[in-house]
Amino acid sequence: MKVTIIGAGLAGLACARRLTDHNIPVRIIERSPSIGGRVQSRTIDGFRIDIGFQVLLNAYPALQLLPELASLPAYDFPPGARIMLEHRLHTLSDPFRNPADALPSIITPVVSIQDKLLLWHLAAELNRRPLASLWDEPDQTILRFLTRRGFSNGAIELFFRPFVGGITLDESLGTSAAIFKFIWSMLSKGIATLPAGGMQSLPDAMAAALADKNVDILLGRQVTALTANDTRWSVQTDSERIESEIVVLATDIWSLGDFVPNVEPPRYRSQRTLWLTIDRVVDCGPSLILNPDRQSPFMTVAPMHAVDPDRAPKGKSLFAVTVRADHFLDTTDEIVQSFHQAMQRNKVISASDRIGCIADQTVQKAQFVQEPNHFRMRKFRAALPNGLYVCGEHLQTSSINGALESGISVADEIVRTLSSRE
Ligand SMILES: Cc1cc2nc3c(=O)[nH]c(=O)nc-3n(C[C@H](O)[C@H](O)[C@H](O)COP(=O)(O)OP(=O)(O)OC[C@H]3O[C@@H](n4cnc5c(N)ncnc54)[C@H](O)[C@@H]3O)c2cc1C
Repeated sequence: MKVTIIGAGLAGLACARRLTDHNIPVRIIERSPSIGGRVQSRTIDGFRIDIGFQVLLNAYPALQLLPELASLPAYDFPPGARIMLEHRLHTLSDPFRNPADALPSIITPVVSIQDKLLLWHLAAELNRRPLASLWDEPDQTILRFLTRRGFSNGAIELFFRPFVGGITLDESLGTSAAIFKFIWSMLSKGIATLPAGGMQSLPDAMAAALADKNVDILLGRQVTALTANDTRWSVQTDSERIESEIVVLATDIWSLGDFVPNVEPPRYRSQRTLWLTIDRVVDCGPSLILNPDRQSPFMTVAPMHAVDPDRAPKGKSLFAVTVRADHFLDTTDEIVQSFHQAMQRNKVISASDRIGCIADQTVQKAQFVQEPNHFRMRKFRAALPNGLYVCGEHLQTSSINGALESGISVADEIVRTLSSRE
């Protein structure tokens, strides 16, 4: 085999896809029984849920590099969010992009006029700026960046902390401002979406394109050792040995140290998501709901059935509810009860609604910690000696885009190396 890729997460699949565009023979080995790595979905009692609440930002540049992802059908969340406060939901959206919510967004008293102007100005600025320029500026935490931009404490606490904290899995807002600017730029240029059929549709679409090119994906096989023999690599799995000219390590960063010396595994962020159901269609609209009350165990509520009707059986509702990190040890019942009370208080559901919990998931190593200047301090190179390459989100941003881009750029490097040998 010319190239063996270890790991069938988005990075490994994207790398394989790009190599097959150049007709380079490739095989993928994955330790778990399914493809997708951290992007997976499943169906429980007719409800389609993902492993952890995730969204696809449709402006991610990497999506345009793979036709099957660029054309993936998806459902949109409206721009902005609704904020739970003082017993009702307040809409905060971009009136230029979401005219239906323009009036409530303009008149809502939760965020001051000055904050709204700053918000729209930031979106317009990031929409204009080339992405590459975002990484060149001196970095700081998100909290510091927002404060320096002039946002009030109210806007930070009521909007940014739960909204951005939900995306970066870091409610402290201590994550790199460069990451925030990248995400905000994506949200200004495009929108948050749910791929039809669940997040799993992303890896499935790439796997279908690979199947058309007869690429083997060996599932349920853990790679246990790599040995270099002259110009080839010997890849040892728990059941066989495979010879390959080039090996791409597309594992998560925490597994990389099994094969490459001196990899310091970064700290990680976790996500706990409860998938809650109600036996009627709750007509609350498709916007993401933010809960800024930091005493409450849950931070965001995504009405999945209102975004994608196929997520729930007919006549039922499905909510993806993310839990605050300091409530990870609360029981499911405690969180469900708190959700019921808060949603009732804010007039989204009624006292008679019975809530079911079809899944309570904690993904331990969901994302790596992206501190300010993380990207400047990165020591790791994608190409190691002797035909060994590395890809994965950890070389870019901890995101779907980061995983896809790193897979594609390593494939391009392999193509360049192979063509320079000819
Ligand atoms: C709960 C959660 C929420 C998230 N939310 C978002 C979001 O809203 N938007 C967004 O853009 N991103 C989000 N992300 C991040 C995004 O999902 C990841 O950054 C991306 O999927 C990582 O892809 P990857 O291919 O780099 O790594 P992985 O998906 O971790 O893939 C690595 C693969 O390597 C395999 N592997 C490891 N070791 C071996 C071995 N020895 N042998 C064989 N196989 C091996 C693993 O099983 C795995 O399949 C979220 C992630 C999680 C978990």
